Amino acid sequence: MEQMNSIRHRLPTPGRGILSEIASAAAHIEKNQPTQPPALEDEEPLDTSTEPLLRDMPTDSEESIRDVSDWPINELANNSDSEPYDGVAGRVVESGLDCIAFYKSFRHVHSRPAQGRWGIFFIRPRCISLAADMAASTGEGRSVCLDALIELLYTHELYHYKIDAYCLQIESSGGSLLYKPYRKLVSRLPIQEWHEESVANAYGLAALRRNCGHLPRSLHDFLRLLVASSPGAYACGVHEHQHGWKDALARQVASFFSPPHQPSSVNSLIFSTIRAGTNLGNPNDQNLGAMLRLHHCPVYWIDWVRGKRSVLTPYTISVREVERDFVGRYLAGIPDHTSDHEFYRIDNGEKIKMPNPHNPDVMPWEFKNIIGKAGMSSPEFHLARHQTSGWKKNVPRDPVLPPRQGFSDLMGRGPKK
Ligand SMILES: [Zn+2]
Repeated sequence: MEQMNSIRHRLPTPGRGILSEIASAAAHIEKNQPTQPPALEDEEPLDTSTEPLLRDMPTDSEESIRDVSDWPINELANNSDSEPYDGVAGRVVESGLDCIAFYKSFRHVHSRPAQGRWGIFFIRPRCISLAADMAASTGEGRSVCLDALIELLYTHELYHYKIDAYCLQIESSGGSLLYKPYRKLVSRLPIQEWHEESVANAYGLAALRRNCGHLPRSLHDFLRLLVASSPGAYACGVHEHQHGWKDALARQVASFFSPPHQPSSVNSLIFSTIRAGTNLGNPNDQNLGAMLRLHHCPVYWIDWVRGKRSVLTPYTISVREVERDFVGRYLAGIPDHTSDHEFYRIDNGEKIKMPNPHNPDVMPWEFKNIIGKAGMSSPEFHLARHQTSGWKKNVPRDPVLPPRQGFSDLMGRGPKK
């Protein structure tokens, strides 16, 4: 049943006027700063949050941007089982949530991707595939899974807007440029020091708890596990109290403010001013003036297409990897019998039907069944894959896990000898 408090009814659609006003104010403020940090003078400023994404994007494709009110219900239903399994969760385990959605600053409105636009962009096919994967792992409907996912992603990306907008607010009073040098600093640091990602994830999970009372618990658990399995600072988002990470983030931003040889009292004041802006008051953020209010940050769906078909490559898992490495090495599987398919007996006593060897990649229903019998959800599979360096280290697994509920052939019949 449709819930009116579902995220799709709460996403803002600000008018175009305010969007270009914010972008033009930012351009003016950056151009007129009395002191330009040296790093910015010599090169075209880079959008460090979308730059890694662009490296993956096929150049011979067309960008398709849709309004967020165009909710992809049909595509959810059509995301059928006839395509190979798309392990978007594996991407998140490798690089964090920003591989399925991203925030593009108003400071980069004229650069790619989404030239002429700024705001929050959900990468449509990846969100849909992850919702399908969530549905397979939790047994819930795809639509409600997409709702929960978007709740997390929206708040995560909104936090990136908050930091950008708060920096602009300070910059507008004539101090120093903060945001671009800060982003550049972070892009050069190891992922453990991307503190903004930790806080963004923590706010995302808090939004799920707060707004999704109507959502099944299993969806919250799935997404929390996904955050916990993410790399570096992203994983720290599972901690409810983020004081330490907010302090660290504020120190990174404040480092671009202080001219040398200031009294420490001034440095403390600057730090505490920036620190106050690292909170996110959603829906009404008291630290942001009227012009930069949170609901002035627009939200879109984005995809890259050729002839209406997405050209984004799915994150597939090969049948060979499942059979030889995951089942054979990690689950200590041994061949059991062969009928129309091959069957393996794995460490917990379950019998696993091998994927169809005529397909190069594993299909969604095959994946769901195999990891269910192995006692794993999809984030757990991808995390284990990462931690064992592709099923090479620390195999076979220890401890052995029982099968997940509803996946066992043995339950209720007693273990077979
Ligand atoms: Zn992020």
